[in-house]
Amino acid sequence: MKSWTRREFGGLTGGAVLTALRPRRARSQAKAKVAVIGGGVGGATVARYLASGTAPVEVTLVEPSGLYSTCFFSNLYLAGLRSFESLTHGYETLRRQYGIAVVHDSAEMIDPVAKIVGLSSGAKLSYDRVVLAPGIAFQDRAIDGYDAAAMEIMPHAWKAGAQTKLLRKQLQSMEDGGVFVLVVPPDPFRCPPAPYERASLVASYFQRHKPRSKILVLDAKSTFTGQDLFQDAWQRYYPGMIEWLPAEFTGGVKAVDVKARSVITAEETFKAAVANVIPAQKAGHLAQQMGLADRSGWCPVDPVTFESTLQPSIHLVGDAIIAGDMPKSAFSANSQAKACAFVLASVLTGSSRSTPHLFNSCYTFLAPDDAWSNAISYKPLAGTIRTAHASISKVDESSEMRRRAAGEAEGWYDAFTRDVFG
Ligand SMILES: Cc1cc2nc3c(=O)[nH]c(=O)nc-3n(C[C@H](O)[C@H](O)[C@H](O)COP(=O)(O)OP(=O)(O)OC[C@H]3O[C@@H](n4cnc5c(N)ncnc54)[C@H](O)[C@@H]3O)c2cc1C
Repeated sequence: MKSWTRREFGGLTGGAVLTALRPRRARSQAKAKVAVIGGGVGGATVARYLASGTAPVEVTLVEPSGLYSTCFFSNLYLAGLRSFESLTHGYETLRRQYGIAVVHDSAEMIDPVAKIVGLSSGAKLSYDRVVLAPGIAFQDRAIDGYDAAAMEIMPHAWKAGAQTKLLRKQLQSMEDGGVFVLVVPPDPFRCPPAPYERASLVASYFQRHKPRSKILVLDAKSTFTGQDLFQDAWQRYYPGMIEWLPAEFTGGVKAVDVKARSVITAEETFKAAVANVIPAQKAGHLAQQMGLADRSGWCPVDPVTFESTLQPSIHLVGDAIIAGDMPKSAFSANSQAKACAFVLASVLTGSSRSTPHLFNSCYTFLAPDDAWSNAISYKPLAGTIRTAHASISKVDESSEMRRRAAGEAEGWYDAFTRDVFG
């Protein structure tokens, strides 16, 4: 067994875990208990990779919902190109094949000293190590009037489920010639290219079903991810249909008027037939409540161990964390989750660990048969995560290459969701 130096042990695990490891030494065959909170991409991947490894662990995954619908590819659903069922996954394989105890409940608190997770049902879960992957929450009062009731009229559809279905229904019942207003939040937010992919795919839907309709993108930013690729495609495929207004033109979105179904910027009021308001974001509520987020609203972590720098002994992965150059994407969450699972396995077995290899790869649709792609590798550097190598689609790629990418994306979805949910 590896003997830890004091510095190494403190840096990797924090002092509190000493007590967690003691029982393991006393009962050499006892399994360590790992609690994973959040059964989205990050949490399900940590659970699956830990449970399928050689470390002697009992993994419990806490997730309120019995089914998980992916945000990725939900823009294809909005455009009528995919069914909602095809985006929805259960936890049966994780339970049956990997022996993970999946608890459908919500975590309300973590006591890192007693090593207990308190659940909404009142049940308590003891653990040796805990990983939190709570995804995102929306910033309160980022836009005047945009509250829980307003979301039912002007959906965000940025967490897949009822909101996504509502937006689809509104797009279907919208009259031809209406304006779809899409409000894009400031950085950082979940999946940087996704609002523009949404504009592209909704435009393809309009072209097929409501060709006189328009799309107005009200952006909080003045540039965006993949801008050259998107704007080139908008001109070629949807001339005159999509108008993108950066914050310097509008002064930014200030409020919504739900009754009038309008979006109010500093300069002008825009009447919408359908309004899709994506608010500014922060780490999921439990992370905020547990003091795991800093003033930015996101959670700082050690880029090698994914241990919180604010609450050592609690690990975090996915959209909730500050991950340097890595975007908030499902692929990033999956990659961080694997790295975190390997770190935990090495702690629990006393084996040596190596520097994590981190990746992000995305397919982004410009039209049903045109997707651009990227493949980026990252490495921990000077306390954060930096890009190592990047390969990104170019504007002048052949249409054949793009068509191939759109086809490959389907295979990517199947392989990726199998990697996460088994
Ligand atoms: C429109 C759109 C398109 C996208 N397209 C892509 C794409 O093409 N490729 C890509 O890589 N990424 C894409 N993404 C991003 C991707 O969906 C997210 O980055 C990814 O889901 C993040 O995973 P996560 O585990 O951090 O959070 P999530 O997947 O949101 O999972 C968080 C889970 O935690 C649970 N939870 C929260 N609080 C608690 C609690 N207190 N107790 C228990 N459980 C809790 C939630 O119920 C949820 O299931 C897209 C996103 C959007 C919105």
